[in-house]
Amino acid sequence: MKEIKDLTAEKITILGGGGFLGSHLARALLERDCCKVRVVDLSMDKLPEKHERLEKIEASVDDGGVIAEVVSWSDIVVSATAICNPAVYNTDPAAVIQANFTHLEPLVKRCARSGKRLIHFSTCEVYGHPQRSPSGQILPMNEDSTPLTMGPISKERWSYAAAKQLLERLIYGCGRHEGLDYTIVRPFNVIGPRMDYMPGVDGEGTPRVLACFMRALLFREPLRLVDGGRARRAFSYVTDFTDAVVRIIERPSACQRQIINIGCPDNDITIKELAVRLREKYAAMCAVPPSAIVSVSSEEFYGPGYEDVERRIPDIDKARALLDWEPRTPIDEMLGPIIEDYVTRYAPFCPAKS
Ligand code: UDP
Repeated sequence: MKEIKDLTAEKITILGGGGFLGSHLARALLERDCCKVRVVDLSMDKLPEKHERLEKIEASVDDGGVIAEVVSWSDIVVSATAICNPAVYNTDPAAVIQANFTHLEPLVKRCARSGKRLIHFSTCEVYGHPQRSPSGQILPMNEDSTPLTMGPISKERWSYAAAKQLLERLIYGCGRHEGLDYTIVRPFNVIGPRMDYMPGVDGEGTPRVLACFMRALLFREPLRLVDGGRARRAFSYVTDFTDAVVRIIERPSACQRQIINIGCPDNDITIKELAVRLREKYAAMCAVPPSAIVSVSSEEFYGPGYEDVERRIPDIDKARALLDWEPRTPIDEMLGPIIEDYVTRYAPFCPAKS
C-alpha cells in the first residue's frame, strides 16, 4: 500500500498560481477541505475572489526576497511560473530563458538547502522531436529512457525546451547530490477553461492553439492551421491534470525524486481534427454557421526560427503505477465546457452576430 499523506496541516505555495494550470490546481486543493494555499502571481483573475484557506500575494518570483519568504513559509512549493507560449520562443528567447530557468534557479537551491519539498511543472517540450522505432513508428515519450532531441540553435523554438531541460537537470542534480525532495511533472498539452488569454482583449501576441482557435471562432475569423494542421498532439483535460498533481502532493514517498508525465495518449489527434471538432461544436452551441479553416505556413505564422514537433505521445505507465490515476476525459467531452467558458468571458468583447 502506498502512503497517502493527510494534507490538513500542510502549507502549500503555488508560484504562478494565477495562471491556467496553477489556478486550476489552487481550486482543486481548496475543494478538498485540507491545506492552506498561498498563490504568488501578478494576476489573480482566474482564482476565486475569496476563500478562507487561500492567500494571494501579488508579486513576481524575481522580486527580491520573494523566494526566501515563500520557501520559509511553505511545506511544499509548487512552481508553475513559465513563459510557455510558442510564439515567444523564437521572438524573445532571452525572456523565455530568464523566466523558465534564471528566475527559478534560486528557488531550487533554497528548497534544497532548507529541506522543503518542490513540485516543479516542467513540460513535454523537453522531449523535443519524437523518437521512432526501427520500423519508423513514433514512440511514446518515457520519462526515464527517451532521449531529449532538440533542433539546432538557429531554430529558436527550442529556447523554451532548453531552459526547461536545464532546470530539470539542476533539480535532478540537487536531488542526487544535496538531497532535494522534488517531483518533476511533465504536462502534455493540457487544455481547459480559462486557458491563456484573448489577443486584443486581455493580452497580446499569439497564445496556444486552443486560444487561437477560440479567438477565431468568437471574432468570426478563419481558424488558421499551421502547415495544414498536420502536427498531432495528445490533448489532456485540466481536471485530469490537477487530479494527478493532487495525488502527487498526497504521495510524497512514492513520488520523491521522480519525473512524471501527465497526459492522455488516447486523445492523440491532428491539429486539423481539433479545428474541425471545435468549430462544429461551436457552431452547434452558438447557432452560427461554421467558420472557415485556412492553412498558413509556419514561417508566416510564427516567423523564422520556428520548428514544429510532429507528434507527442506520453507514456503514462509511471503516473498510473505511482498515482493509481487514469486520465478520464475524451476530447469531445472537453470542448463543451471550454467553449462555454470562452463565450462567457469574451462574448461581450466580440463583434455582434450579423
Ligand atoms: N497551431 C495552429 N494554429 C494556431 C496555433 C497553433 O495550427 O492558430 C499549431 C502549432 O503549429 C502546433 C500545434 O498547433 O503544431 C500546437 O500548438 P500549441 O500552441 O498548443 O503549442 P505546442 O503543442 O507546439 O507546444
